[in-house]
Amino acid sequence: MSDLVSIFLQLLLFKLVAPVTFRHHHYDDLVRTLYKVHNECPHVTRVYSIGRSVKGRHLYVLEFSDYPGIHEPLEPEVKYVGNMHGNEVLGRELLLQLSEFLCEEFRNRNQRIIQLVEGTRIHILPSMNPDGYEVAAAAQDRDTSGYLVGRNNANGVDLNRNFPDLNTYIYYNEKNGGPNHHLPLPDNWKNQVEPETQAVIQWIRSFNFVLSANLHGGAVVANYPYDKSLEHRVRGFRRTANTPTPDDTLFQKLAKVYSYAHGWMHQGWNCGDYFPDGITNGASWYSLSKGMQDFNYLHTNCFEITLELSCDKFPRQEELQREWLGNREALIQFLEQVHQGIKGMVRDENYNNLADAVISVSGINHDVTSGDHGDYFRLLLPGTYTVTATAPRFDPETVSVTVGPGEPKLVNFQLKRSTPPAAPKRRGPNSGHRGRVLPKKVQPRAARKKEMMMKQSQRVPA
Ligand SMILES: [Zn+2]
Repeated sequence: MSDLVSIFLQLLLFKLVAPVTFRHHHYDDLVRTLYKVHNECPHVTRVYSIGRSVKGRHLYVLEFSDYPGIHEPLEPEVKYVGNMHGNEVLGRELLLQLSEFLCEEFRNRNQRIIQLVEGTRIHILPSMNPDGYEVAAAAQDRDTSGYLVGRNNANGVDLNRNFPDLNTYIYYNEKNGGPNHHLPLPDNWKNQVEPETQAVIQWIRSFNFVLSANLHGGAVVANYPYDKSLEHRVRGFRRTANTPTPDDTLFQKLAKVYSYAHGWMHQGWNCGDYFPDGITNGASWYSLSKGMQDFNYLHTNCFEITLELSCDKFPRQEELQREWLGNREALIQFLEQVHQGIKGMVRDENYNNLADAVISVSGINHDVTSGDHGDYFRLLLPGTYTVTATAPRFDPETVSVTVGPGEPKLVNFQLKRSTPPAAPKRRGPNSGHRGRVLPKKVQPRAARKKEMMMKQSQRVPA
């Protein structure tokens, strides 16, 4: 028998006996699974905690990268977040399956997975709400589960209504001018959010994430920003109006990549609801304030969508394998979406990296910034674009770029210091990374009051 055949048979045998366990994982079990994957793939994984829940449980992240713990310039960072609502548990299990799958396939020399892991830094947070999960799981065991038992964190707060509301600012700025990205946090934001939310905010501020998905349940649809409705139009008893971002066509494509790679999401009819192509603008479905996906887009460089993955929020154990097979390809393809558009380095004349340089694309009113290493990533659909890089005290540089459907185009900028140096050119006081100060009172009292009234009529969602 040739060596190759023998290796193939060994691999096949390994695959057949490899323990893939389709069951629900309590917290201890989840932690054990993450470390098990790390022990099986120690060179391409790392386990780290981004903080603790109200009850002191760690919010563990499993990272996949060829250099775990290190940001390699021009290698994009991408993340998955599961189980933000403690009773929506499929995402948590899918992310554990995905972790095992990435590790196994990397070891099996699956070229697609090797390329993904070597070219991407992947962060997986299987549970953002481990306290809520335990409440939901205990209720399942006692068969006393209600629709919402375990949804909130241990303080009774819905974490997907707990992020600072930056939509009000952006809707004001869209009308009146002002920063179109990296809107600042309120001064006292830490006092306004839950420990889990604070941990996630600090996490997404410390990595230059480019792409993300937040996994939920209770429907089957890929939901893209904005979640918060611009117009407070009431349809029936719901407040709902399509509220697109400046990156609407890109977001639709990202959502479609998931829905069409998913076993049945794209068919549209699921859980008694219909969504064309299996996707929806969040606000057009139902409006929600202070959600995580809008916050990602408005405060960081990260483009996040929300995936609703199962009609049943707590699917029976016997359904997990079918769900995994229905989602596996979609979970991989979505990660691969981070490799499109343009990326590059922003440097000065002496080849020093410039962090926080602003990359603007003409016709799209949403800028991104370069990260600490001077590298930037701008997701774009195929087409020809006029792209400008600016940084304080440097002359802007503009180029025309044609983006194809394949790999991202490398577009580097080398900015020249502006003359005279005494007159620094700035796009505005808030154009830099994590823009500084916003005019106060952008949210009129009347609007705030109206919003409070609207909130009361909001239905309880997925
Ligand atoms: Zn949810």
